[in-house]
Amino acid sequence: MGDMQKKIVILGAGYGGLSTAVMLQRKMKLREAEVILVNKDSYHHITTWLHELAAGTSPTDKCMVDLESVLEPEKVKLLKAEVESIDLGQKEVYLSGGQRLSYDYLVVALGSEIESFGIPGVKEHTYVIRNLKTALAIRDQVERMFRRCKLDNYRPERLHFVICGSGFTGVEFAGELADRIDELCKEYQIDRDKVVITNVEASPTVLSGFDPELSEYAKAVLEKKGVVIKTSTPVKACTSDGVILHDQEECRSSTVVWTAGVRGHSITKRIKHETVRGRLKVDEYLRPPDHDDVFVIGDSSIIYGKKEGPYPPTAQMAVQQGAACAHNLLALLRNKPLQAFEPRIKGTLVSIGKKVAAGNVYGLKLYGSKASFVKKVVDYHYLYRIGGLKLVLDKLKGGERQGEKNSLLDH
Ligand SMILES: Cc1cc2nc3c(=O)[nH]c(=O)nc-3n(C[C@H](O)[C@H](O)[C@H](O)COP(=O)(O)OP(=O)(O)OC[C@H]3O[C@@H](n4cnc5c(N)ncnc54)[C@H](O)[C@@H]3O)c2cc1C
Repeated sequence: MGDMQKKIVILGAGYGGLSTAVMLQRKMKLREAEVILVNKDSYHHITTWLHELAAGTSPTDKCMVDLESVLEPEKVKLLKAEVESIDLGQKEVYLSGGQRLSYDYLVVALGSEIESFGIPGVKEHTYVIRNLKTALAIRDQVERMFRRCKLDNYRPERLHFVICGSGFTGVEFAGELADRIDELCKEYQIDRDKVVITNVEASPTVLSGFDPELSEYAKAVLEKKGVVIKTSTPVKACTSDGVILHDQEECRSSTVVWTAGVRGHSITKRIKHETVRGRLKVDEYLRPPDHDDVFVIGDSSIIYGKKEGPYPPTAQMAVQQGAACAHNLLALLRNKPLQAFEPRIKGTLVSIGKKVAAGNVYGLKLYGSKASFVKKVVDYHYLYRIGGLKLVLDKLKGGERQGEKNSLLDH
């Protein structure tokens, strides 16, 4: 093959990018193409568990997968670098440190960025759940507040945790944090009544757009756990003292967590085509028009169902798109016809703290521990797809060894 070998560059090793890489390495013949997976970290985040890490109910190791442990270097090369820009005309990617990378086929799978909706102070004064480091920053902040209240003196804002947004991430984090607070109160001998978790949401319901019965159930579970839910309450500003609500009410808090929305990665601006909240519109083959050599998948792209409108950005969607993208890359290499992407939405599940979840799977509504069990099965099924039984067992045991965790995070 020699010089004829095509070069596939995949940007991002999240749910979409890693699924593409793993499917390629499984189905591609040796040296059929050169595949380079670029990611800013040497590990993959298990994002669907990050709210547990942020609340302090899961260890760091559980939420990360060492990329080298799931990639076969003779088929997929890992390049740890930050993507700065892309030039579709020159077919080049610009990386941190002035590196350039040329490609024949490009897969953009860089995920999403925080959407602040132009609300002042979001970037400066809130915590976010985006990756291991930001999740750990929340866990540390929560623990620091309890420590301070025990050691120095109690101040209400130190034990007031405000979560902006009652979408999936906000609800999952609120449920998990409520469970952790009980433990922390015991550990630091603090009266539970002194701790307040407020979940603020602009829409009239939590989990807006979700099945109304399931969303009512999620609200009731959170309220039972002591979470104060304020729906129809847009945030006006975030400040160093907390949050100002639309009616000028001030929620004083030392810990404000922003889970109110995401938008597509800003790199999609380089591809001159229509975007919706920064997510690039792609065709049925997951490509922007006029760019037959570029695929944009996962949270960075948007696709529409025939009746349902746009599909929400989820891990489920990113994984399916990764598999479809790998299939079409192989078709391009082998001069075979491409296959249109057809999402298979099996259901949606949201966890609401330990051992409680809600959702629908294949049209069946599930609540409580049953839903929680099914959600775990879904999560572990994903791990099985990317790393086989070894990865599943590793995570069931509680993650990798301590030393590995630290060396990966420090890089
Ligand atoms: C707390 C939380 C819980 C969630 N729970 C669920 C759930 O239960 N079910 C569900 O379906 N979805 C869930 N989601 C949504 C889901 O995680 C996303 O839809 C999914 O991760 C999207 O996959 P992706 O491949 O597009 O992006 P990501 O998985 O975010 O991957 C993007 C990758 O690109 C890398 N990257 C980004 N910028 C650069 C750069 N400039 N240079 C190099 N690398 C870069 C990132 O480090 C990352 O590895 C949850 C999200 C959060 C935050």
